[in-house]
Amino acid sequence: MSQNPSVEDANQCMKCGFCMYNCPIYKVDHIESHVARGRNVLIKQANEKTIPTDAEYAERLSFCLLCGRCAAVCPARVQSPEINVAARANLVNKKGLSLPKRAIYRGILKNRRLMANLLGMAAWVPGVSTKGGKPLRHMADFTSIFTKGLALPRLSRPFLAARLPEKTLPPVGVKTKGQLAFFPGCAFEFFLGDTGESIVKALAQAGYEVIYVKDLSCCGLAVRSAGDMKTAKLMAQHNIERLEGFDNIVTGCATCGSALKDYGKWFADNDPTNAKAVALSAKVKDFSEFLAKEGVSNKSQSESPAPLIVTYHDPCHMKWHQGVSNQPRELLRSIEGVKFVEMEGADDCCGLGGAFTLAHRDVSLAIQDKKINNIAKTGAQVVVTSCPGCIIQLKDGIKRHGLNVEVKHISELLNYQDPNAKIQTNPKP
Ligand code: SF4
Ligand code: SF4
Repeated sequence: MSQNPSVEDANQCMKCGFCMYNCPIYKVDHIESHVARGRNVLIKQANEKTIPTDAEYAERLSFCLLCGRCAAVCPARVQSPEINVAARANLVNKKGLSLPKRAIYRGILKNRRLMANLLGMAAWVPGVSTKGGKPLRHMADFTSIFTKGLALPRLSRPFLAARLPEKTLPPVGVKTKGQLAFFPGCAFEFFLGDTGESIVKALAQAGYEVIYVKDLSCCGLAVRSAGDMKTAKLMAQHNIERLEGFDNIVTGCATCGSALKDYGKWFADNDPTNAKAVALSAKVKDFSEFLAKEGVSNKSQSESPAPLIVTYHDPCHMKWHQGVSNQPRELLRSIEGVKFVEMEGADDCCGLGGAFTLAHRDVSLAIQDKKINNIAKTGAQVVVTSCPGCIIQLKDGIKRHGLNVEVKHISELLNYQDPNAKIQTNPKP
């Protein structure tokens, strides 16, 4: 059943203010129109046509990370982030998308092959990729001019599609428990390829045949968050068609996981895709959610006799959107040689919020600062998380603060039971 709120649902807000003390943005700027309570009033007024839906209104709508925390604490269960997305969609319907956004959302992100080709060409520019040439070695840092200082990861060469076989089998001696489809998402596919590989290896080590499904699209969440529902639904539809034959669908990206689990709500009840979307969403699991039920136990990869001190950052798309927070901790505590320490505000947003970090860099950095200070206070050597976006933001913050802390995806902490075991693979046909 479709449950997506519309702008009319802003009327349900009873203005209690609970959201204000939980909103990462309000906590740093104290501006009422940047938090659910104030924005719901604006959305209600815009819906009643008592205020104009002009550039100022669009700017207010943009001051939201869509982190989901306000909805999680709201006593009236007002789905404020989804109401905001509905309001953004109304703006897109009324005013259309800017030319660059149209080109990126509808031209590049929707067309995975074109995206791969364009990024593939960019990867040949020396310094832009992890295996790039020497002369312009700092090219990735140069790109930070366009990202307002945010250090983006380099492109991985080759991309994940060229590294993984169509089927990765469990190592010899590990009993096969079943099969799953792996949803890599754009970040692991094009930027964090090594992490993408480690996710697949850990799943195979746990006894699963991991299928790398060709020609998947972007999950669509970034496009939907910007209000382009039509393109997001086309992306979802494509992924549903490619994945509907699998019983288990696993992703290592919290953002993709929250999108795939929500596909069932993206299509109205009378939409022919609705039933398929609902069925698919029910089969999606995050990497740690999937593995925690397996009770995998592992040794730390650290060769030091002293325990590796590890803390965990909850991605908003895991904790507030999927309700997954115990499982990654269970996994980390199960790793021999790891000492897990909880950080203060572990479930506070890191401040990235996709395009938010580029649109409102000062606010994003103020939120990031709090997170990095909390990481520093733990004395952890490694901060683990489950979302490529958070990995990028945490690495950026750690670099800015000059901390000696590594940032890793949870799969990278898991060692294989037999380090000599080779993961069997089936070559691509
Ligand atoms: S917590 Fe919910 S009901 Fe209360 S002000 Fe915020 S959105 Fe409105
Ligand atoms: S979704 Fe997050 S950033 Fe947006 S209003 Fe709610 S708590 Fe604040």
